[in-house]
Amino acid sequence: MSATTARPDSTNRTFTTYRAAVVHEFNAPLTVEQVPRRQLEAGQILVKVEATGLCHTDIHAAHGDWPVKPSPPFIPGHEGVGIVLELGPGVSEVALGDRVAMPWLGYACGTCDYCVSGWETLCLEQENMGYSIDGGFGEYAVAYARYVVKVPAGIDPIEAAPLTCAGVTTYKAVKVAGTRSSDLVAVFGVGGLGHLAIQYAAIAGGRVIAVDLIDEKLELARELGAEFTVNAAKEDPIEAIQRLGGADQAIALAVSPRAFEQAYASLRRHGTLVFVALPADNEVTLPIFETVLNGITIVGSIVGTRSDLREVFELHSAGKTKVISEIRPLEQVNQAIADVEAGHVTARIVLQP
Ligand SMILES: [Zn+2]
Ligand SMILES: [Zn+2]
Repeated sequence: MSATTARPDSTNRTFTTYRAAVVHEFNAPLTVEQVPRRQLEAGQILVKVEATGLCHTDIHAAHGDWPVKPSPPFIPGHEGVGIVLELGPGVSEVALGDRVAMPWLGYACGTCDYCVSGWETLCLEQENMGYSIDGGFGEYAVAYARYVVKVPAGIDPIEAAPLTCAGVTTYKAVKVAGTRSSDLVAVFGVGGLGHLAIQYAAIAGGRVIAVDLIDEKLELARELGAEFTVNAAKEDPIEAIQRLGGADQAIALAVSPRAFEQAYASLRRHGTLVFVALPADNEVTLPIFETVLNGITIVGSIVGTRSDLREVFELHSAGKTKVISEIRPLEQVNQAIADVEAGHVTARIVLQP
């Protein structure tokens, strides 16, 4: 089904509840249950969800891991992709039947300094899908029309879903890193984000070294364009990368402070470390002296804008990127979370309602 032939669901337009995976309590399993359909407010749309990726952020949300916590009950999911089924008052940005992606940045004010200067992802008024507002882990989801991104015809929703967070987040991280041709880029962590980071770094002209603890993931990294790989369980990644001259940029995607410290130490002089992953353990120890003398840049990068996501879709439409995922029914969300936490998932799990 392509975006041009997609039609709004003509089955039961008058339904009052739908199935969704709900967090009622931190650190407890999600429950898949009927939730009430909400009345659309101005600017909102109802989307019939076709696919939704499981991001580590959803797991942190369900655990209440971070300093700013969501308030249960809530529905996680910020990689939802589906068809616009109903338009709320005043919506002109999308039409019925459009296929749209519903990313982490679910709403922003549109007028603050950040919003008007291309940094809407830093807006203080922002709402986040699957965190402060209900997300894509359901048969339907409500989104703000202005903050969804149309999925080009020809991109399968199963592939569009991981691009909506894992894709745009790593695409932006490579932009922020400033990768240029022949730069050595160290990607720490190969899963859902890392498998795409490798490809974006290579597209930018970088020579990629992928670091992970699991050989199977490193094999995937090589298939996707990593020139070098290091299994950090068997070999010291700092030594291995320094032997190659040190990384011009290191991108920290593994949810472990130790990996951030290793990424830092793998840099060459004037290198840049990009913080992307958000480990529950919120501290790293980095030396001041070496940072100053070596002219190191450390920068945080949070998701990407609507414009970045359009570019991500454009690259995928052009056949420049591959999305690796496995499909599970939404009912298996708790098992899917357990598998991600155990490191049993090569790249991304995509849930289908
Ligand atoms: Zn995410
Ligand atoms: Zn704003």
